[in-house]
Amino acid sequence: MHTLQEYLEMIENLRRYPNAPYKPCLLLAIIQLVEQGDILENRVRLSNRLKDAFARYIAQIPGWDPKNIHNPFYHLKNDGFWHLAPSVDRTIQLSSLIGSSRSPSSRQLHELVDYGCFDEPLFIFLTQPDKREIVRQAIIERYFPDDRQGIEYLVAEEHQIGEHRQLLIQEVAEHPFLYSVTPEPSEENPARRQAFRQEIMRIYNYTCAICRLRVATVDGESVTVTDAAHIIPFRISYNDDIRNGISLCKLHHWVFDRGLISLNETYRVKVSRFIDEEGPVEWRLSNLHNKDIFLPQQEMLYPAQEALAWHRDEVFRQ
Ligand SMILES: [Zn+2]
Repeated sequence: MHTLQEYLEMIENLRRYPNAPYKPCLLLAIIQLVEQGDILENRVRLSNRLKDAFARYIAQIPGWDPKNIHNPFYHLKNDGFWHLAPSVDRTIQLSSLIGSSRSPSSRQLHELVDYGCFDEPLFIFLTQPDKREIVRQAIIERYFPDDRQGIEYLVAEEHQIGEHRQLLIQEVAEHPFLYSVTPEPSEENPARRQAFRQEIMRIYNYTCAICRLRVATVDGESVTVTDAAHIIPFRISYNDDIRNGISLCKLHHWVFDRGLISLNETYRVKVSRFIDEEGPVEWRLSNLHNKDIFLPQQEMLYPAQEALAWHRDEVFRQ
């Protein structure tokens, strides 16, 4: 069993990438997700959330491409504290890949690897705020002496976003949904706006509530097809309660905002009579009429019916 000091030495001597920022950025992104409660157990998946976080760190260091997340995720296994767990029935393929010393493509990695994990004691250190900070500072000091300011700024910003996310969830737990018709105008707070987006993406798992598609790239580019949409627009309601939010793909976000679709009292889709569409029947929006939508696991996080009633009255074109 290693001590924190021994793990720090391993982390400060990452192999193969002494000059490339990928492995240290991946570690910073994982540390952030542990801090924000997105990673609760020692199983780190190549999720959209992780790709998003990784891309934000890479963006602090000019000239590097966030699409390469699968490389550090894979090669970190050579550094003594990181392990790859095979997907179901893929144990043999994964060991032969590891034996071959080839680098997998992002698609191969997605197919063969279920998750990455740390040595258990290191993961436990990362769940403890003081030790986690020691590890983070060691990474920044060793790998990013020149980009320290940008990285520190991002860490602080993400910390704030994490706090806003907790507040958003707390508001749902403690207060009924409040929608006042003449709200106090309020400045949109960037950290809170990001927190709203991250929470909506988390509770809907990057899935469009209407068509249930979850589309992203297999590599690290942080592009997903879903938006965190406000049901009553922020400029009208100044309301970024989670229950005024819903995850929608670009197409369904667009038709929702233009009142061509809405949702009824039992979360089924309503399609406007004003829709004019041509094309293959199976892809038409009118097929969505009366279909159930995809909802969060916890009922308290469902879109508020008060917000949907406003959308039906003010935006939907009957
Ligand atoms: Zn959709």
